[in-house]
Amino acid sequence: MQPADLGQLLSRVVGGKTAKALEKAFGMTTVDDLLRHYPRRYAQRGILTELATLDEGATVTVLADIQEVTVRRMRERRGTILEAIVTDGQGTLALTFFNQKWRENELRPGRRGLFAGQISTFRGKRQLAHPNCLLLPDGVDDDPEAIAAFASELIPFYPATSNVTSWQIADAIRVVLDTLGDLPDPIPDEVRQDECVIGLAQALAQIHRPANNAELGQAQDRLRFEEAFVLQVVLAQRRAEMALMPATARVVGDGPLQRAFDRNLPFELTRGQVAVGEEIAVDLAASHPMHRLVQGDVGSGKTVVALRAMLGVVDAGGQAALLAPTEVLAVQHYRTITSMLGPLSQGGMLGGDANGTKVALLTGSQRTATRRRELLDVISGDAGIVVGTHALIQDTVQFRDLGLVVIDEQHRFGVEQRAALAAKARGDLRPHVIVMTATPIPRTVAMTVFGDLDVSTLRELPAGRCPVATHVVPVREQPALVRRAWARVREEVDAGRRVFVVCPRIGDDDPRAPDDDIATQDRGIAGEESTAASVISVAGKLADGELAGLQIGVLHGRMTGEEKDDAMRRFARDSGDSRIEVLVATTVIEVGVDVPNATAIVIIDADRFGISQLHQLRGRVGRGSLPSLCLLFTEMPQGSPARARLDAVAATTDGFELAQLDLELRREGDVLGSSQSGVRSSLRLLEVVRDEDVIVRARAAAVSIVEADPTLVSAPGLLSAIHALVPDAQADFMEKA
Ligand code: ADP
Ligand code: MG
Repeated sequence: MQPADLGQLLSRVVGGKTAKALEKAFGMTTVDDLLRHYPRRYAQRGILTELATLDEGATVTVLADIQEVTVRRMRERRGTILEAIVTDGQGTLALTFFNQKWRENELRPGRRGLFAGQISTFRGKRQLAHPNCLLLPDGVDDDPEAIAAFASELIPFYPATSNVTSWQIADAIRVVLDTLGDLPDPIPDEVRQDECVIGLAQALAQIHRPANNAELGQAQDRLRFEEAFVLQVVLAQRRAEMALMPATARVVGDGPLQRAFDRNLPFELTRGQVAVGEEIAVDLAASHPMHRLVQGDVGSGKTVVALRAMLGVVDAGGQAALLAPTEVLAVQHYRTITSMLGPLSQGGMLGGDANGTKVALLTGSQRTATRRRELLDVISGDAGIVVGTHALIQDTVQFRDLGLVVIDEQHRFGVEQRAALAAKARGDLRPHVIVMTATPIPRTVAMTVFGDLDVSTLRELPAGRCPVATHVVPVREQPALVRRAWARVREEVDAGRRVFVVCPRIGDDDPRAPDDDIATQDRGIAGEESTAASVISVAGKLADGELAGLQIGVLHGRMTGEEKDDAMRRFARDSGDSRIEVLVATTVIEVGVDVPNATAIVIIDADRFGISQLHQLRGRVGRGSLPSLCLLFTEMPQGSPARARLDAVAATTDGFELAQLDLELRREGDVLGSSQSGVRSSLRLLEVVRDEDVIVRARAAAVSIVEADPTLVSAPGLLSAIHALVPDAQADFMEKA
């Protein structure tokens, strides 16, 4: 047989039946897929144990001779049991195998072998079920070295299914490793030397069949570095490609719109806002597209920074689009912009300013006529500013001269959506892009998920903010606190303030909260399947009870765009009879909603939310100069992990700190959602939280490789690793488009 390479189909190496089983269980089709199925853990075969001293449950390795072998049919089930009795001269032990009749050929009486596994008892007899077996070839029966090598070996345990056992996987891998030819290494020689990591073939052999812990460590280091490195090369290439694309340079700074906006700002920009504004201005003035991530804590004033950039671009003759994750947020941005611009937002209309421009709004729930009118303004260029939701990405939306795209609260948008928007500029030109995160993100995440972007960070909050006082309210343990909490809500309203009440679900027929996933694990500890509070029932109960007499409204995803809009308006602006004083809502208010007069937020069943989400929700209050309050209601008992998370949120308002903690508690997949980066499936050993140093090193190496050789002609191994990685992202895109 020809030596196998990584791209070869498994069916040609391990046989059709095994290949089919592996594909069905794990979706593996190639040799590479199989070899990248790394063991979950390893067990030491342990030192040789004497048969007379076997303890139930112990993991042992014995050296023994096969005495007799029997195969019989099972009585209750289909299948066979093979039993081999082995002896070391003192005691005996049974080895049992289900449905492995073929072992008869191997386990012949008189042969000597090493058998490793865990001792169990069956009908009073000590046995090893499905032990690892190594039969010593005749003649080396007493070779102490061979025996020692076997005994010290680490036994791999693979992620397995009921149809494909760890043992079968190990077998298939053994076959593949033995037929493997020369492997092109994704890590070029010079990088490998600099980083002191071993080659690919050696690493694969050592991760699957480590002779000892040192070998295993070497293999893991190497493969972990490879994951980070290949990913960073993809990102570095993306950056390099973008840097080569043409964009219209927009010289911003002192146009009429931006000036009017600055004049109408009711506050001074922070130093950070000014500095980031300058970074953006420099990028915009270049004839290659900007790709910049603006990150900062909740309430740090990212939106203002983005709006100023947009106005600058319009002043310079282009159009700017602002993409918001929700309709509520899109409408809010639309209002902020039109009200700050005043007559300047009435460009082209009677009574409008001659320097002005129109502001268009595009959302999914718009009536056709409205939408058509807005689309016309966009395509004609009359609308310099276009605000919208996903609806903005659709094919029907064409711009006259799209100069800047701002994506607010990035975590809802993936690389592919960015790409779709980028295609909307004129001809070959690309728009400049600003991405804003909802919450701060840890450095390693910035480098992996957003590694193709330049990063600007707003480190300070605007002056005069009172930190939001946060308290955990244990509903069961301290009912008095609950009453006190609602009394506080009433006090806020009496003082003319607004209050949010957030619930995990909409109605009682709503099976579970959209964000329940993260928390379910933790909740297990309470041992009961309680359902989370819903907007509808909480609003009803409050109106009849604790908050009777107050004006209570609701806001959730099942309302139409118009209804949501109306609720937000009545909550945010109204002081008349139709006002809403307490808004009971789902997390639709999570991102970016800005009501400076809101001073309290009560989060019911707060344990159902993740840390970053709670921080984001809390950021809905404390946006003005008024002291604000966040109350986290929970039924979770003291000492549960869920409570610990809430205590952490209560203990600090530092979003960067909480983001790090959140990351540590989440599974990686949640952080690196595949639509974000198209890379999730490539990370097996790398852990974004723990492996910061690996990521930093890999990034540096990747940047210098790509600089020296942008198309990677000199690194064929790397190139094919990238091709294996990137189609993923494209497939993802096709699925969603
Ligand atoms: P982010 O998007 O970063 O969460 P926003 O841009 O929505 O924050 O700003 C939060 C609130 O702070 C808004 O009410 C905004 O008007 C206000 N704000 C922004 N910049 C400043 C500043 N420099 N001084 C005072 N208030 C500010
Ligand atoms: Mg914002």
